[in-house]
Amino acid sequence: YQAKQEGRNDYRLFSREMNHQQHKLLAMETALRNAVETGEGLAVFYQPQVNRTDRTLAGAEALARWHHPAFGHVSPAEFIPLAERAGLIVPLGMSLLHNVAAQQRHWLDQGLLPVPVSVNLSTQQFWQHNLLVQFRHLLMEHRLPAGLIGIELTENVLLDKPVQAIPLLDGLRELGFTIAIDDFGTGYSSLSYLQDLPIDTLKIDRSFIQRLGESRSSNAILAAVTGLARELEYKIVAEGVETEAQMQALAPYPVDLIQGFLTGRPVPAETFAREWLDSIKQ
Ligand code: C2E
Ligand code: CA
Ligand code: CA
Ligand code: CA
Repeated sequence: YQAKQEGRNDYRLFSREMNHQQHKLLAMETALRNAVETGEGLAVFYQPQVNRTDRTLAGAEALARWHHPAFGHVSPAEFIPLAERAGLIVPLGMSLLHNVAAQQRHWLDQGLLPVPVSVNLSTQQFWQHNLLVQFRHLLMEHRLPAGLIGIELTENVLLDKPVQAIPLLDGLRELGFTIAIDDFGTGYSSLSYLQDLPIDTLKIDRSFIQRLGESRSSNAILAAVTGLARELEYKIVAEGVETEAQMQALAPYPVDLIQGFLTGRPVPAETFAREWLDSIKQ
């Protein structure tokens, strides 16, 4: 009887804890909704992508940041899934995209030599019915030349409905956007499926870089993936390179670009411009 009683109390405690969690999530959702409406606390950071050989700047990835007075800095790994569940990802994604486009326009107007910036697109964003119209308007509204904005999609976005995805990818590329497959190797796609996709870039997931040199099989996978990507003439980005040792270990593979803490962390737009962007030579 005693044990049962304790069990019940545990359950009540647990249930109160659950309530607390749910309450926090709900409060966070409300706060995020507010942030999306006002733009307050939302920002875009830029992480450089450098050429492997000389580490000069080749591009950047735009990464969302959210700071809230009560919740502090919330990781995108937390608030992006929250936005997806709360039906906020489409307006949030659109506002981030316009933020990046306006920033590129601003850098051009300042006489800075811009580099392509790639933006992450969630599944729900990619499958919007008027995706191509919105992306065409984005370029027109900010008077951006083609090629300054890239799109990153995970394999899973495309794997859902590959047949429907291909014309959309073609449409985006015709508008001048480049397409990268993000986190490659973490999804379920097979190598053979790669050859059917109209894409420009393959981003090798950080987990492969971390395992480099650890086992013969992980090296073999990396060799196969980069070999095929090279064959298909995709640009290859290695993500999450943190050490010179990893950089060394990558040497045998045909990697074009490096994106990682070793060569540059994500930083605010002003810092990125100051530290990385050159002026257009007259
Ligand atoms: P991701 O697209 O794979 O972005 C790369 C993540 O790896 C970023 O985390 C970046 O800060 C981190 N990273 C880069 N180099 C290194 C490194 O050398 N070591 C380690 N440990 N990490 C490194 P972040 O900014 O926290 O973003 C996490 C994820 O949130 C992103 O992963 C992406 O899936 C999502 N995300 C971020 N911004 C957006 C956005 O605007 N829209 C959407 N849909 N998703 C976003
Ligand atoms: Ca990404
Ligand atoms: Ca990634
Ligand atoms: Ca990721």
